Amino acid sequence: GKWVYLFGDGKAEGKASMRDLLGGKGANLAEMSNLGLPVPPGFTIPTTVCTYFYANNKSYPKELKAQVEKALDIVGKAVGKKFGDAKNPLLVSVRSGARASMPGMMDTVLNLGLNDVTVEALAANASDRRFAFDSYRRFITMYSNVVLGFEHHHFEDVLDTYKDSKGYSLDTDLNADDWQVIVGRYKEVIARETGNDFPQDPHEQLWGAIGAVFGSWMTARAVTYRRLHDIPESWGTAVNVQSMVFGNMGDTSATGVAFTRNPSTGERRLYGEFLINAQGEDVVAGIRTPQEITEAARKESGSDKPSMESEMPEAFAELTRIYQKLEKHYRDMQDMEFTVEQGKLWMLQTRNGKRTTKAALRIAVELANEGLISKKDAVARIEPASLDQLLHPTIDPNAERDIVATGLPASPGAASGEIVFSSDEAAKLHSEGHKVVLVRVETSPEDIHGMHAAEGILTTRGGMTSHAAVVARGMGKPCVSGAGSIRVDYGRGTLSVGGRTFKAGDIITIDGSLGQVLAGRMPMIEPELSGEFGTLMGWADQFRKLKIRANADTPADARTALRFGTEGIGLCRTEHMFFEETRIRTVREMIVAEDEQARRAALAKLLPMQRADFVELFEIMKGLPVTIRLLDPPLHEFLPHTQHEIEEVARVLNTDPRKVADRVRELAEFNPMLGFRGCRLAIVYPEIAEMQARAIFEAAVEAAKRTGKPPVIEVMVPLIATRNEFDIVRDRIDAMAQAVVKETGGKLTYQVGTMIELPRACLMAGEIAKSAEFFSFGTNDLTQTGFGVSRDDAASFLGPYLAKGILETDPFISIDRDGVGELVRIGAERGRKVRAKLKMGICGEHGGDPASVTFCHEVGLDYVSCSPYRVPIARLAAAQAAL
Ligand code: ADP
Ligand code: MG
Ligand code: MG
Repeated sequence: GKWVYLFGDGKAEGKASMRDLLGGKGANLAEMSNLGLPVPPGFTIPTTVCTYFYANNKSYPKELKAQVEKALDIVGKAVGKKFGDAKNPLLVSVRSGARASMPGMMDTVLNLGLNDVTVEALAANASDRRFAFDSYRRFITMYSNVVLGFEHHHFEDVLDTYKDSKGYSLDTDLNADDWQVIVGRYKEVIARETGNDFPQDPHEQLWGAIGAVFGSWMTARAVTYRRLHDIPESWGTAVNVQSMVFGNMGDTSATGVAFTRNPSTGERRLYGEFLINAQGEDVVAGIRTPQEITEAARKESGSDKPSMESEMPEAFAELTRIYQKLEKHYRDMQDMEFTVEQGKLWMLQTRNGKRTTKAALRIAVELANEGLISKKDAVARIEPASLDQLLHPTIDPNAERDIVATGLPASPGAASGEIVFSSDEAAKLHSEGHKVVLVRVETSPEDIHGMHAAEGILTTRGGMTSHAAVVARGMGKPCVSGAGSIRVDYGRGTLSVGGRTFKAGDIITIDGSLGQVLAGRMPMIEPELSGEFGTLMGWADQFRKLKIRANADTPADARTALRFGTEGIGLCRTEHMFFEETRIRTVREMIVAEDEQARRAALAKLLPMQRADFVELFEIMKGLPVTIRLLDPPLHEFLPHTQHEIEEVARVLNTDPRKVADRVRELAEFNPMLGFRGCRLAIVYPEIAEMQARAIFEAAVEAAKRTGKPPVIEVMVPLIATRNEFDIVRDRIDAMAQAVVKETGGKLTYQVGTMIELPRACLMAGEIAKSAEFFSFGTNDLTQTGFGVSRDDAASFLGPYLAKGILETDPFISIDRDGVGELVRIGAERGRKVRAKLKMGICGEHGGDPASVTFCHEVGLDYVSCSPYRVPIARLAAAQAAL
């Protein structure tokens, strides 16, 4: 087998496309060599050796040793040195490098090959003893730490004691003799603490380092990182062995890192830092303050330290030439590492640079405008989910933050408001015009109305997939979850943390992007939706086939959705209009009413409120389609709970509270989600559906009068299992439409369709489509009923299922293609067979999940509907699915 790939000297055995084999670092070192860039020669031991290593009881392929020896020879010849040689030793770095860059892997070891003999040669050849012993002590520190697992502080103690004894304050105060003494003391500490002498044999050092790289693939840190980032264990890491160049050879030498564009703003300008007379990680380690690379950046920062541009003009000119070449070649912003050895520039790494979403947008759009990539490429390059970062108000970055506690960044954006500790209180205060932050130990489905009413949600318990986190993300509300240091006392109405106490009504701010809880109200910045964001979204719209609608229950939702580019409302849940404090009482009257007459009386009170809701919604949506779903949730959810609520209802109905309590018991359900809900309500209590249909149609006539544009209405019947159910409800709706036309003389354009959210409905879709004019796949309920799993109760076992790999992803977040997806596919096919023009979409959480959007594109749906804040994400995901 081939276990070694050489690079350097203007050529290489590998190339960028061989990333799987050579790892990212190795592949790009090869690519840079092929481009003729100055790369110190070296070789890559491929990931296949790592795989072999773990498959064969941590041993190496038998040819490896000979191949490494040979490669060392070739590399040595290329630089005129020899590994282990007492006169002219080749020194190398040993660098790990997986396919994806992975913190948690072994740190790089520099200056490997130094020992008590070779250090003298290095000193003599460079005519610089200080440099040689500085390199040696660095090597001993890195090797001991990384390979021998020896703790840093031993060395720090030695160095500090020595500096104190000499009255030195900086490392640069130490001269050659000082470093030589330090090296001796380091070796003593190692021998004393580990019982072994520091290895003097360069070959032993090399294999020790190589083994450490492969060993680091399975450390707990690396395993955790891979699990969090979906990196398969089978990938393995590569090892790069590379001849050293020295940035610590005095004032004409340096080391640095640079981006071809600004990674936080995307601005097109070389951006980076460097340090004179330094090695490797000194720049990031913060030992000394690094200097700016360009003169322009130095002026802007007001630094008095010279820039690389002025200090090392030749190396800077070379870096400029190279970075432009690299960016053209890779057609993307590059993150580079370089070293200058006595005036000569060497490239040590390049990769596509990490960037903020804001920068990613600017860079993609500018690269396309510069002609380096196509518009399609630009659209393909933005991770749809990452847009979330941009779509919410954020705290003014210049504002002073009084951080009270931190938790998990569960849902992005920031919000300020009065502290409330109960959802009812939140809803009440909200309806009175207050802005509130809902603070709970944790939330449950009973808190939905409170979460809706709140500007943001803070919980002290629960993770990134807790109820609060998932629901908040769906609503586009900022949420900090699991802020464990906070103690909530519901009884007293206080929140305390670190000796500070906040009462209900006190103002706090949460930053859901950083997971921070802040005291007081913070100044906010509204998201900037123009500029590159607008340009890129415009390009995305040119490519996508799916239409994007929003789930919007309120005028505020609808306006947000329009701002984000929605093409209609795909789901308006009428029940949310009922949860409002003033209305819920009337809804309760309606529910506990003992006969139709009493029920109709309550419904008559709700009619004008509901009509007004729709008029406003139709006006806002101006001729775009609006899908209105008839009342869906279990009546159970609206029941009065407390004695106070029961008495309140009894008073209005003029009956005995005990009677009301009896009725409540009668209506209580064991399994409400599979109980008296959906179209079953409209069938058993037709007057409810009639009231809603009347409200919709009267509102339509009214809105048409006001705007001059007839609304495009889609009335949606939920939870259909049989065609019969649909026909019964549909007849009522049609009859109501006719009545309203007759009464008002107005004109109506509407369709009646259904949610497809039960497995039976998917199978019977052909039958249902004979009557229904559109389908909206309710993938939330379809997932619940398809899996037989209640979402609200899934927390206790879904986590272990995911951990054990029984499920790959949470099916409530990303659609289960194989099972639930197959039901959708069947429903779509059978429906279209009967009605070729059947309009089909999905609504629910999945509509804003990029992978699910891709699925919907593949199945050939007409649209997806998602929460307003996810509309841009869905637009981009739909475009990418169509590229
Ligand atoms: P990381 O993956 O943590 O960035 P690297 O392998 O890139 O680790 O090494 C870190 C730094 O070590 C490099 O940026 C470079 O400054 C230095 N380095 C690595 N190899 C060499 C070398 N052959 N000569 C000089 N410096 C090197
Ligand atoms: Mg690096
Ligand atoms: Mg449903």
